[in-house]
Amino acid sequence: MNSITGSLHTHGFWTDYRNPNETARAPFNLKYFVGACIKYLDFQAITDIMSNWPEWKEFTEHRYSALLATADPKDKDLHIENNGIEARVWLYGNEFTIPRTQEILTNKHFKHILVAGVKEDIFGGRNARDTLKEIKDKGGYAILDHPFMCDAWTEEEVLDLYDKKLIQALEWNGGLTFPSWLPKFLRKKTPNRESNHRVLALADKIPVIANDDAHCVDDLKRGAKTSYNIISGSPKNINLIDYIFQSIERRDFQRHERYSAFTSPIHHVKYGAQSQKMFGKDGLPPA
Ligand SMILES: [Zn+2]
Ligand SMILES: [Zn+2]
Repeated sequence: MNSITGSLHTHGFWTDYRNPNETARAPFNLKYFVGACIKYLDFQAITDIMSNWPEWKEFTEHRYSALLATADPKDKDLHIENNGIEARVWLYGNEFTIPRTQEILTNKHFKHILVAGVKEDIFGGRNARDTLKEIKDKGGYAILDHPFMCDAWTEEEVLDLYDKKLIQALEWNGGLTFPSWLPKFLRKKTPNRESNHRVLALADKIPVIANDDAHCVDDLKRGAKTSYNIISGSPKNINLIDYIFQSIERRDFQRHERYSAFTSPIHHVKYGAQSQKMFGKDGLPPA
C-alpha cells in the first residue's frame, strides 16, 4: 500500500469576489509550480472557477489549462500528458499529477461545490442540488467546500445529500482565514474555523478531507492536505483522481489540518509584485 498526498482545492492565484479585471495574480508557470510542490506533495489539483455572479455573467477562469499552457514545448526537462481530467507531469524525470477540479459558485453565497473527474465545464449560478445532480449524471465527484461558512448549508441538508450519493465528502478548509478581504456583507468572525468545527462533528457520518484552498503560491507546501491510501495496482490504468475517491469511499485517508499563513490580499499583492519581478509580466522566468 502506498499513499499519495495533496490538496484537491487549490487556486494558486488570487481569486473570486473581485472583478476579474482587477485581479492581482501571482504569475507563475508550470515548471515553477511543479518545482514548488514536488518535494512536499504527490499531486496538487488546480481549481477552475465556474461562476454566474450577476456582474460576472458566466464567468469562468480556466486556471488548469492556463497553467499547463505556460509550459515551453521545447523544454526537455518537462513532459506533460493531459487528458482533461488530470495532467501527469514529469519534471526532470520525477512524476507529479495535477488533477483539474472546478469550484462552482451556485446561486447562494458560499454554497460552493468542488468537482473532480469531469472534463467539461459545469456552469455556476444555479441551484446547488440541480448542479450536484448534473455532476453525478456526468460521472463526476462532488465535495462541499467550506460547507458551513456563513451558514451556507445545514447539517440535515448535507447528510441528505450524502445519503442520496450527490456528494462524496465534506471539506475541512485550510484557507480563507483572513475574512477581511471578503465583501462587507459576508464578513463574520473567522467563519471557516467555525465551519471546520461543524464539519468535524459530522466526520463519523460523512468523509471529511482537508484542502488548502490556497490562493497564493507560498501556501501550496504549507497548507492543509490529505494523504490518500492506494491499495490496488499502480495509478497507471485509471486516473489518479479515481484512486483518491476510492480512498475517500473506504475512509482510508489521513487529514493534515493546517491553516494557510499568507492568504491576505496584502501579502498576495506583495508576493505578486515580487514574483512579477522574478518571472516577468507574462509569468515566465527571465530568459
Ligand atoms: Zn469557495
Ligand atoms: Zn476556493
